[in-house]
Amino acid sequence: MSRPEPHDDELRAAIRGVGLRATRGRMVVLGHVLAAEGPVSHAELADRLSGFDRATVYRNLMDLADGGLLRRFDVDHVWRFEALSLEPGDPRHPHFVCTDCGQVECLPVMGFDVADRRVPAAVVAQQIDVQMRGVCDACR
Ligand SMILES: [Zn+2]
Ligand SMILES: [Zn+2]
Repeated sequence: MSRPEPHDDELRAAIRGVGLRATRGRMVVLGHVLAAEGPVSHAELADRLSGFDRATVYRNLMDLADGGLLRRFDVDHVWRFEALSLEPGDPRHPHFVCTDCGQVECLPVMGFDVADRRVPAAVVAQQIDVQMRGVCDACR
């Protein structure tokens, strides 16, 4: 199960919109991350894109993350990438990591009471990664 793949002209416009050249590789990588069910690692994506060199897939992921089209976060020392919605101000959401199979799932956005003085500024500014660990439904 995955989300529908976006059209080439949407991908091209999104990539050009952040000042990058819309190369075939970047368009294919962005399209696959957008269509993925959850956050993907470089290894998973490189396996799916067997026609592309692994180093090229990695470079494209990093370029798209630096450009702000993908969010990158570390799970057990492996980068995971997910597409940001093309809306400005897309809020950060926490992730659930299965301690058994390693599957990473997106969780709904959690709110913090910004008036609470115990909450550090980085949390209010959403400069954080929240990861919850447990056993996923498939592994129970
Ligand atoms: Zn699992
Ligand atoms: Zn997510």
